[in-house]
Amino acid sequence: MHEADTFELALGGLLHDIGKFMLRAHESGIMLWNGDAQADFKYKHAMLSDSFVSQFVPKAWQAKARGLAGNHHDPETHLQRIVQLADWLAAGERDDDPDVELPKASRQQLTVLSSVSLDGRRLDEEALRRAFLPLKSLSLNESSLFPGESLSTADADRAYRTLWEDFRRDIEALRDAHASDGDLPVYLESLQLLMQRYLWSVPSAYWGTRPDISLYDHSRMTAALAAALAEFEDERVEALLASDLKTSNEEVALLVGGDLSGVQEFIYTITSRGATSALRGRSFYLQLLTEAIARYVLRRLNLPITNLIYQGGGNFYLLARADDADQLQTIQQNISRILLQHHRGDLYVALAGVPLTARDFFGSLSTRWAELADAQQRIKRRRFAELNKGELEWLFEPMGHGGNEDKQCHVCGREHPDTREERREDDSIVRKCPPCRSYEALGKDLRKARFLALTWLPMTDDAPTPDLKEPPGGYEEVLAAFAMKAKVFRNLTDAPLSDHPTTLLAIKDEALAYLKPEPKRAVGRRFLVNVTPQKGDAIKTFEELAEDARGVKRLGVLRMDVDNLGRLFAEGLGDRSTLSRMAGLSFAVSLYFEGWVEQIAETMNREAGKDVLYSIYSGGDDLFFVGSWDWIVRFAQRVRKDLSEYTAGHPAITASAGVVLVGSKYPLAQAAHEAGEAEHAAKSYQRWDEDTKRMVTAKDAISFLGQVQPWTTFGLAWTPGMDTVAGLAALLVEMIDHGAPKSLIRNLSRLYAQYKAAERRRRELGEDETLHGKPQPLWGPWMWRGYYLLKRSKIADIEKLADALHDDDFRSMAWMGLAARWAELLTR
Ligand SMILES: [Zn+2]
Repeated sequence: MHEADTFELALGGLLHDIGKFMLRAHESGIMLWNGDAQADFKYKHAMLSDSFVSQFVPKAWQAKARGLAGNHHDPETHLQRIVQLADWLAAGERDDDPDVELPKASRQQLTVLSSVSLDGRRLDEEALRRAFLPLKSLSLNESSLFPGESLSTADADRAYRTLWEDFRRDIEALRDAHASDGDLPVYLESLQLLMQRYLWSVPSAYWGTRPDISLYDHSRMTAALAAALAEFEDERVEALLASDLKTSNEEVALLVGGDLSGVQEFIYTITSRGATSALRGRSFYLQLLTEAIARYVLRRLNLPITNLIYQGGGNFYLLARADDADQLQTIQQNISRILLQHHRGDLYVALAGVPLTARDFFGSLSTRWAELADAQQRIKRRRFAELNKGELEWLFEPMGHGGNEDKQCHVCGREHPDTREERREDDSIVRKCPPCRSYEALGKDLRKARFLALTWLPMTDDAPTPDLKEPPGGYEEVLAAFAMKAKVFRNLTDAPLSDHPTTLLAIKDEALAYLKPEPKRAVGRRFLVNVTPQKGDAIKTFEELAEDARGVKRLGVLRMDVDNLGRLFAEGLGDRSTLSRMAGLSFAVSLYFEGWVEQIAETMNREAGKDVLYSIYSGGDDLFFVGSWDWIVRFAQRVRKDLSEYTAGHPAITASAGVVLVGSKYPLAQAAHEAGEAEHAAKSYQRWDEDTKRMVTAKDAISFLGQVQPWTTFGLAWTPGMDTVAGLAALLVEMIDHGAPKSLIRNLSRLYAQYKAAERRRRELGEDETLHGKPQPLWGPWMWRGYYLLKRSKIADIEKLADALHDDDFRSMAWMGLAARWAELLTR
């Protein structure tokens, strides 16, 4: 098999439906749609795809790509038939479709989140009407990113026209960059990034089907499948095309997944002598490491970038050839050796593959995804078992010779021969090992960065086996072992000059305009939440963040993630779990946590008038932030609020948060752990269900100041009012600010403490629930005392509060007390 075919097939797959984009933008191309063309191409969009290739693809790849892109409805050659098969498998459409009547829209895409259904919770017809994505290029602003109502036909025409004109300008620049001196893998990466930018919300189909798959996702998955099918003999391809794919058990591809473990411990288990920049550097390094390993596997298997389905949050998924399974064991060994040398068993990647049959592509992909997770779990349980005995001994070998205190790093506690002393600002001495120094430098480089450059070093089949006797290296050495070099920087003049292919990514919207494609340089946008609080030229310390909080000087630590994410992926799409749709779902969820969350944090910093938030990590479906506690909790509210808008109000896509307050000297590992416990408590939130007369786990809650409240009670905005925790807290603070006595809050707070004590007593007696588990009201003399105390305040709002408490048997005390406690901490 010719190696070039794999990459050319990917190119054909990427562009096979590009004619649809032209068609909708009323772009006529350079061919005539006449009788001959109809006989040749069958569909007008196929002719336009062909026309697109001859206009916009560099000469070197035109000849082959033309047939591949244009003839997928009427293939004449072996490779053309592969693209047709890939197209069918990627789309994997069912015959019967809508379970609800879909609203008509002007060639627009529904967010794929609107197709999710969990426990019967889904978007109704009314909500679907507001679930259309804007027809705009991808950028992080509300009007480009959030779903809404559909456009009028005329507006949609204009939107398509604008998108096409912008796309055309960029695709021409890309063609010219590769005109004489083309590099196909580099071109493919730039092209895919361009398609992400312009086609992320252009539906791949909208006629007689659910228009929830973008042309971007459908094209890249068709490309991935075409590349994976490259080695199929023609008879096999023809037989598959002639067969009923929906029932075929023939293995056509391999779903490969990598799962990085040890992440939490690696990031948080550092002493407080580690600077705040070290923390961010460590977290970012793990993102880079995931990417380096994903690309390493891809390159070892000689697959194009299109075959990387998703990477982020310590995970990656690739689409490989059915017979690539044999190679995974060797690749796993290489990865493990490198990680063992540099991380001594702290980090591990479990690499697994699950075969995909043709019928899997017609709705059972989520089942295969779940099997992949199981396979990874099995590998993790016997981590490093793939190494030989001699190598394994290194797992138990102490680093260095042990007992040499001068060489022990103050940050990670490990011994390293090159540990050096550093003098800190306060003149104290701190010892740091080379790896810890490197993470800190990375964190510092990141704080003002606008670009990320990834350079792809050559890979040889006979790369030397890592020498486990060598001491661990900094992040550069580890990434280099996976044939990747990474650099973050602020000004384009600092971009690395290299003869090797480089992927140059703008990590801010505004920086994208500066990037121009080159023969050895793929360019595009990368979403990366990068919010670092600064004071002058330095990263703000935890002390300063705590000091900047209103009221009590504490740090807020927030962990938050999407509820039921595993089930959303495994069950949410039901039998609509096709490859393109699964890829689209990963993209949609990560776009929120890797992209929009940064905008929220920056908006809050602006509202605060100073930097109060620090992103330690945000990606995949979860985030970890540290900051001034008063802003951290409001940030959590905003993340939850915007998530609903992002999902068009989907009732099953929710998120829970855990917030803890700690002193700035508190060990971060412990704070991270406690925030994790708080998040877990929020996820265990139960409410009484009148329909079933049972307590049900509802999630969608926040744990704050040791109490869990559902978001509906907690509130999503800091606006004075009497209906939510946040509203009441804001109201109380406002009263105090306007001269009301602080005793007001103290009285409420005391009442709350009495309520909590009574609740605890009753729980100990086991009398807190009825036989069915329904929570019972609390009674006690403190209630009446509290009632009169509040009534005596002679403040209208507070008297109203007292009456509200009285009327619901003091059940509201739980949330009202929390509001009082919140207000008390703010006004202390
Ligand atoms: Zn160290």
